Amino acid sequence: MISKLGIYVQVPFCQTKCTYCNFHTGVVASSRFAPYVEAVCREIREHRELLKAAGVGWGSGIDEKAHSQDSSRPDLATGQRGLCHEDVVDTVYIGGGTPSLLDSGHLQNILDAVRETFAGNLEEVTLEADPETVAAEKAAAWARAGINRVSFGLQSFADKELIAAGRMHRRADIYRAVPILREAGVGNISFDLIAGLPHQTKESWRQSLGELAALAPEHVSVYLLEIDEGSRLGKELLQGGGRYSAGAVPSEDEMAESYEIAQEALGAAGYHHYEISNWAKPGFESRHNLKYWRREPYLGFGAGAHSFSGTERWANAHDAAAYAAAVQSGRLPVEQHEKLTTESALEEELFLGLRQLDGIDVGRIERQYGVTLGGRFERIASAGLVEREGSLVRLAPEKLSVSNEVFVELLR
Ligand code: SF4
Repeated sequence: MISKLGIYVQVPFCQTKCTYCNFHTGVVASSRFAPYVEAVCREIREHRELLKAAGVGWGSGIDEKAHSQDSSRPDLATGQRGLCHEDVVDTVYIGGGTPSLLDSGHLQNILDAVRETFAGNLEEVTLEADPETVAAEKAAAWARAGINRVSFGLQSFADKELIAAGRMHRRADIYRAVPILREAGVGNISFDLIAGLPHQTKESWRQSLGELAALAPEHVSVYLLEIDEGSRLGKELLQGGGRYSAGAVPSEDEMAESYEIAQEALGAAGYHHYEISNWAKPGFESRHNLKYWRREPYLGFGAGAHSFSGTERWANAHDAAAYAAAVQSGRLPVEQHEKLTTESALEEELFLGLRQLDGIDVGRIERQYGVTLGGRFERIASAGLVEREGSLVRLAPEKLSVSNEVFVELLR
């Protein structure tokens, strides 16, 4: 099977900094957007030359294998079958940050650059958006540009939680934004919720899930709150203080319980749980994100964007201004460049594969990598962490909320 390429575009700008977040995103003047977008478009158009000059093996190994060998034969170093993905794209994901802050013309320019550079139909084009940034004219322009999926960072329907987390939107913005998108013709909407925001209670969590189900988005992601140590909330947790509601952060057990409540509520509302953090109405699983878990190739553009060729992983430098200046001078600031060993490819295969609720086919992996995994799985199966069905192994449904523990056990 030939994998089509996914394109990720990173837009590292936000209106403000959420209290729990320490991502490499900046709150900058909007005059900084245009030069950044120009650099991203140049990186897209000149990616082959830029990657070659940066020493990344894009366009050298994989294509040759695909053309010269039996493409059904896997590459042992990567577990990938021969790929012929260099020029054929079917998904684009514009993430951030808050990419919906950009002018719609900027988004159009980025998608034009993708269409001019790659072949294929852009079947799924996702834009991450915050509800307060949605307006009728913008949404119509997004749809005209080919954006057919909007992923909303809602996090909660409770204003008290949104305020404490430093989010810009309020519950009312969600109810204003969704009809605007529907009116513009966006038929695929995803909502993100966070379990464990400060001040969240079991009741407010159930209320958020209920309001979400009533709005009937096609896709839902539920994340457990992760507090970066360098964020304002993280520092308050470590050093004390009352400004960011550190004392009102639910415990890990409460978060795990919230996850289980979400599993039940979303299942009852007709959502199919297909990945640890993701649920979808039938046929609305994120095609782009599935590529990450299936180890299919993707190219990331923009500051801090990650890429995977099937044999190598790399990332661009994070600083947006330095990234833009480098690309405009004809150089790609690549860092974290890693050529995968067979061992690291196998580990990825297990951890990324097990994130999917369908599980992994251990027999296929053993054949592909020439290894025996039976012992490893027997141990965690007898501890009740995974279920086995013939050659298939999947996380036990009641262990999904503690999946990290399962992964640690698997590594031992
Ligand atoms: S909008 Fe997202 S990226 Fe920006 S500060 Fe908030 S959590 Fe971080």
